Amino acid sequence: MSKNRLFCAAIAALLVTTSLIAAPATSQVASPATSKAASTAAANPLLAEWTGLYGGVPAFDRVKVADFKPALETAMAENLKEIDAIAANPAKPGFENTIAALESSGKPFDRVSNIFGIYSSTMDTKDFQGVEMEMAPKLAAFFDQVVQNKALFARIAAVYDARDSQKLTPEQKRLVWLDYTNFVHAGAKLDDPAKKRLSEINQRLASLFTKFSQNLLADEHDYVLYLDKESDLAGLPDGVRKGAAAAAESRDHKGNWAILNTRSSMEPFLTYSERRDLREKVWRTYYSRGDNNDAKDNKKVITEILKLRAERARLLGFQTHAHWRLENTMAKTPERALALMEAVWKPAVARVHEEVADMQALADKEALAGSPKITIEPWDYRYYAEKVRKAKYDLDQNAVMPYLQLEKIREAVFYTADKLFGLKFVPTSGIPVVDPDVRVWEVTDTAGKHVGLWYFDPYARAGKQSGAWMNAYRNQSRFEGVVPTIVSNNTNFVKVKEGEPILISWDDASALFHEFGHAQHGLLSSVNYPSLSGTNVARDYVEFPSQLLEHWLATPEILNRFALHYQTGKPIPKELVEKIDRASKFNQGFITVEYLAGALVDMKLHLAATPDKEIDPDAFEKTTLKELGMPKEIVMRHRTPQFAHIFSGDGYSAGYYSYLWSDTLSADAWEAFQEAGGPWDSAVAKRLRDNVFSTGNTIDPADAYRGFRGKDPGTAALMRKRGFPVPLAPAKTN
Ligand SMILES: [Zn+2]
Repeated sequence: MSKNRLFCAAIAALLVTTSLIAAPATSQVASPATSKAASTAAANPLLAEWTGLYGGVPAFDRVKVADFKPALETAMAENLKEIDAIAANPAKPGFENTIAALESSGKPFDRVSNIFGIYSSTMDTKDFQGVEMEMAPKLAAFFDQVVQNKALFARIAAVYDARDSQKLTPEQKRLVWLDYTNFVHAGAKLDDPAKKRLSEINQRLASLFTKFSQNLLADEHDYVLYLDKESDLAGLPDGVRKGAAAAAESRDHKGNWAILNTRSSMEPFLTYSERRDLREKVWRTYYSRGDNNDAKDNKKVITEILKLRAERARLLGFQTHAHWRLENTMAKTPERALALMEAVWKPAVARVHEEVADMQALADKEALAGSPKITIEPWDYRYYAEKVRKAKYDLDQNAVMPYLQLEKIREAVFYTADKLFGLKFVPTSGIPVVDPDVRVWEVTDTAGKHVGLWYFDPYARAGKQSGAWMNAYRNQSRFEGVVPTIVSNNTNFVKVKEGEPILISWDDASALFHEFGHAQHGLLSSVNYPSLSGTNVARDYVEFPSQLLEHWLATPEILNRFALHYQTGKPIPKELVEKIDRASKFNQGFITVEYLAGALVDMKLHLAATPDKEIDPDAFEKTTLKELGMPKEIVMRHRTPQFAHIFSGDGYSAGYYSYLWSDTLSADAWEAFQEAGGPWDSAVAKRLRDNVFSTGNTIDPADAYRGFRGKDPGTAALMRKRGFPVPLAPAKTN
């Protein structure tokens, strides 16, 4: 389910998250297809085995929203029975009868919960939202019931204690460690009253997370700025005008232009609109989401979430929620994550001051020519940054787009996967999909052997969450015979008329490479046990393969073959590529500070919260940013009442730093290619595959990275990538 979905985001293009059910801290737990499950399956297609080619595929053509609740309830009940059977096994606890048995169990639950997660992120209609709201606390209670099963945990602990004296492979030992650690992490060692309270907290949190998301969605949906005069559109490119006109028409305002309260509507408006008064209006509406002191206000929801998280952390024996969340990450402690963020913060803020000075100079020059005199405010940043980009680098973003056709960039990612890792993509037909626009490719290796399936869901539609992400529908494994993986990439491009190309921005092309990096992390997985498979790795490590893949977009080989003008078919001119390259470090102050302010506030909120402190999110945000020396011209990318990454679920809470952490690895890994034979160096690619892309969570991520690179990453490459001064102290290597 949701645990399989990655909220993907390049640092340059962090994306909006969805509502999430509290992700299970356990590995896969559920029941096998017993005869009873099989008989229920006949009545409810969501429980049925996936049949057909490629190891079976989800029967999206038979999904009915009304079936979710009974299917989940049946699957959970079956799971618990299966868990009881494993727990009550009279035989001595061993790897096979306990750990492998857990891996083997729960297939019907995995099937229905995966489809539930796909619906939550891509088919989230009103009727489905009702089911989601009802099932969120029930699923939380179910995961707690598994973790709190004493007899089961006693067996896991017995296998864990004896792990060195049994003949286990390194992968099996890692799985034993992971199960044991996850159970303890989620409260398996607590006494009964503490377990009861923990479960109450988890259920209440699950409801609050859903409430937070639904409030945010409502504010994005309900606030629309309608413009009715041509003069209100001054400066907007044709594409933005067309989109705004279509948005107004679909809302019964034909003849007007609608600026929606979403990132994809706000950003181009603030970048191009010459109307400073309207820029300010759009900016204020967008950054007030969840913060309007009305029925959809999120501040009280946040205060309660913070208190409950702090109480839960104390119950589990941790100082704060942040300490609890980071226990099994690469960073390991909030202090280490903070140290990295603070090391980057100061040079990034210094760069913002330079960027603002450039913009102010330009505005002053305009004032001399007769424009009103202004001081750069937050609603001016994107607008003047774009002007500086044109003036300094002679780069017009609109000149790049005709060379970036969605389908050509898709071919480019296929080409990259083939050249680096030997993956081949062949379109399939006849496979059921959630929407007719979803397409499916079979992936094979160089010998033609089946590797997995790749589903591509490219277009925005009602009920689909915004942003872009990867999802694993089924994890690769082979401990019970070969199970090939199924992965998907999801984006929100606006569909155009049949036969017309979809032109995308450089950032969107980069995001496609990013998401496809996650997909390859799933496809190249070569492990035995599903819990250790593909992208099931630490949160602050999982963005490394995806951020790394972004770098291939800008290679001459890719641009010359795939960045072709949609009318002439000619490759993107060399001069334009050079301009893109020269401008690549432009605006890094803004991008880094906008992101990092959020990451710092996230961490500091979760370090400051206690079970009885009533934290006012707005006041906390204001004070913290003041202490940090936040430039007044920038706001957090996601202000606290809108911070879905950290309040629509636990997944990224005290974890927004992960993107920066992973980027230290990806920046350094890219330099490994540059130091060798370049982006296509086959020896480096092989080391990357053997140590990173194929290993899932079978080894510690720090060891995996050292296996690939021969040393730890340090921060020098990260600073070079962003164009910040590299600290004089040498990066730690060993
Ligand atoms: Zn990602």
